[in-house]
Amino acid sequence: MTQTPAPRFDGSFTQQEPIPQVGIEAALRVLQSGRIHRYNTAPDELSETALLEQEFAAQTGARFCLAAASGGYALGCALRACGLEPGEAVLTNAFTLAPVPGAIAGAGGKPVFVGVTENLTIDLDDLEAKADQARFLMLSHMRGHLCDMDRLMQICDAAGITVIEDCAHTMGAAWRGKASGRFGAVGCFSTQTYKHVNSGEGGFLITDDEEIAARAIMLSGSYMLYERHLAAPDPQVFEQVKYVTPNMSGRMDNLRAAILRPQIADLPAQVTRWNERYDTVEAGLRGTPGLTLAERPDEETYVGSSIQFLLLDWDKAAVDDVIRRCAARGVELKWFGGAEPVGFTSRYDSWRYAQSSPMPASDRILASIVDMRLPLTFSLDDCRLIADIIRSEVSAVFQAAA
Ligand SMILES: *Cc1c(COP(=O)(O)O)cnc(C)c1O
Repeated sequence: MTQTPAPRFDGSFTQQEPIPQVGIEAALRVLQSGRIHRYNTAPDELSETALLEQEFAAQTGARFCLAAASGGYALGCALRACGLEPGEAVLTNAFTLAPVPGAIAGAGGKPVFVGVTENLTIDLDDLEAKADQARFLMLSHMRGHLCDMDRLMQICDAAGITVIEDCAHTMGAAWRGKASGRFGAVGCFSTQTYKHVNSGEGGFLITDDEEIAARAIMLSGSYMLYERHLAAPDPQVFEQVKYVTPNMSGRMDNLRAAILRPQIADLPAQVTRWNERYDTVEAGLRGTPGLTLAERPDEETYVGSSIQFLLLDWDKAAVDDVIRRCAARGVELKWFGGAEPVGFTSRYDSWRYAQSSPMPASDRILASIVDMRLPLTFSLDDCRLIADIIRSEVSAVFQAAA
């Protein structure tokens, strides 16, 4: 008797959608003009970059917005603009990606890691216990999971901690209707290819604080051209900072801004499409024996551009087996429990330039996290197939181990 082969998924987990046609046309106009640098404008011309900043500020409700060369740049720039001193401690998530501790180290700070819960958010009890160790928290909404932002802000306000939000995975997300990036003093976003809008590289910094905004704009390399910004504080605010703030070039350019503007306008519609895909995979995985989903609180408006599940207290060899069996059927899963950093995935104890103490409760969670991207090029049928494959492989390994 011949067995029908198990169905395989043939799509790519790293294939994004094309840039919207209006963005391609706007990019061609920038190329034809030759004026790609944000401050290279014709008389009375508003640059694509300045317009993009104005539009992103309006979308998030922030007073000020700076577009930058990358999300990581925005994070480091935010720390400097908030007054980080050399060698100063910065609290941050143990569960995040390498550019976050990297931005802290790059700005001269020392990361102090805070644990992770089963819902993949920052451990607020651990944060409270460490609140006297730093003046800053760089809060990473890792993989789009928002913690109880009300309690987080209470803890930080009580301890006098300035919060900088890393919204690389939460552009378009909200907590009780308030946009992610609007809780802390500064919100930072990435427009890198794998995030929610795609300009190859790029980022944003938003804030309501005029001094932080003025310092960030000077830091980004505005020279004395800050009056050409459309989402910046009044020129007199710059008088107080312009001689004492170094230029650390990290600008956005008009070509990237041109392709981002229509994507920012489309974001709400894209969020709906992401969540259809997320909810389809989640429904297909729910109830799989041995597999725990990260539950999403009612207060959270999420953007399901990736999905995570936990294989809690599994043998490392069994998790490895799941990853390999899914890969053999075309489903690319990332495991945060691997001994060595692989691809984009690493853990707090792989960043050996930063000291860390063991965190057994977080280690148990990290060792169990399996992560998967959900690009918008996947159809809902693709999502159903992917969930079926994961479900059958996890079940097979789980039953064999039982
Ligand atoms: C991508 C990413 C960043 C940094 O963004 P870049 O634009 O690549 O510099 C920061 N934090 C997290 C969690 C990210 O995934």
